[in-house]
Amino acid sequence: MGKLLVCDPIAASAVKAMRAAGIDVDVRDDIELNDLASIIGEYEGIVVRSRTKVRKDLINKATRLKVIIRGGAGLDSIDVDHAQNKGIDVRNTPAANSNAVAELALGMMISLARHIARADSSMKEGRWEKKQLKGTEIAGKTLGVVGYGRIGQLLGQKAKALGMKVVAYDPYIEHPDIIPLDEMFAAADYITIHVPMTTQTAGFIGAEAFAKIKKGAYLIQASRGGTVDERALYEALTNGVLSGAALDVFTEEPPKSDLLLKLVALPNVITTPHIGAATVEAQNRVGGEIVKIATSYLA
Ligand code: NAD
Repeated sequence: MGKLLVCDPIAASAVKAMRAAGIDVDVRDDIELNDLASIIGEYEGIVVRSRTKVRKDLINKATRLKVIIRGGAGLDSIDVDHAQNKGIDVRNTPAANSNAVAELALGMMISLARHIARADSSMKEGRWEKKQLKGTEIAGKTLGVVGYGRIGQLLGQKAKALGMKVVAYDPYIEHPDIIPLDEMFAAADYITIHVPMTTQTAGFIGAEAFAKIKKGAYLIQASRGGTVDERALYEALTNGVLSGAALDVFTEEPPKSDLLLKLVALPNVITTPHIGAATVEAQNRVGGEIVKIATSYLA
């Protein structure tokens, strides 16, 4: 029977199902990299989420490993080529949490439009800011989606159902909503980014983009820290280029640098601690897919 280590939190039902399938599962879901490096050699399989980074040094110590299972979408936290060169398969569960992320992005958009977060915090501080909190409506506005894959298209469908016009930019697929990037930047009242983090997409929304984005637009970032240049974003939020932004992901999580702390504190910014995939339903779907992959390799 294969031995598998769960390195980040996953649904308890998934652990139970893998054990029922005969896999010898250890759960160390807050394990630090040093500790992981000292025991990874014992395992044929590991399960990670975004927290545990599986880099070359760690992979070199994984002498018995057959499969790295990434619960969730992005593979930027894993040195995939290096693992594959060592004969280790890398698998993920890309579609399991798409709807959760699309719904968060939608919630962020409405929250930006209606200042919901600010309204709540001012009420809790004992203020009644009715006059200052006049919002706008999303119906009739244009949503621009950068990266029209699973999450981007789901969000597009939801936005259309709420009366928005949807345009998108994605050079790798064909879809009637897709238009040239500059046209999308000029047209969109809300811009949301849903690309994977790669060398091509690092800093994709940066100074050059902010020079083209419609003045007063809103930005939603629930993809991966780094696809938006945070310094350029801070500029855009403080010089009137953007009306506001909603951020679920950061280059440093939790944010500690001066720049990120300043960004989080801006009154026209709302933030969440990387909870895009954090729903009961998504976690159950991710867990179910992890079980399927783990049993196919180790049971
Ligand atoms: P996907 O692969 O289905 O879609 C990504 C799309 O981006 C693809 O259609 C691809 O063609 C497009 N793309 C790639 N490079 C591009 C470029 N340079 N310009 C424009 N488009 C480009 O992926 P997905 O499942 O929709 O996930 C999208 C992002 O969401 C990923 O970064 C993923 O890591 C992130 N994500 C975040 C959370 C969260 O908790 N916030 C959870 C899940 C996924």
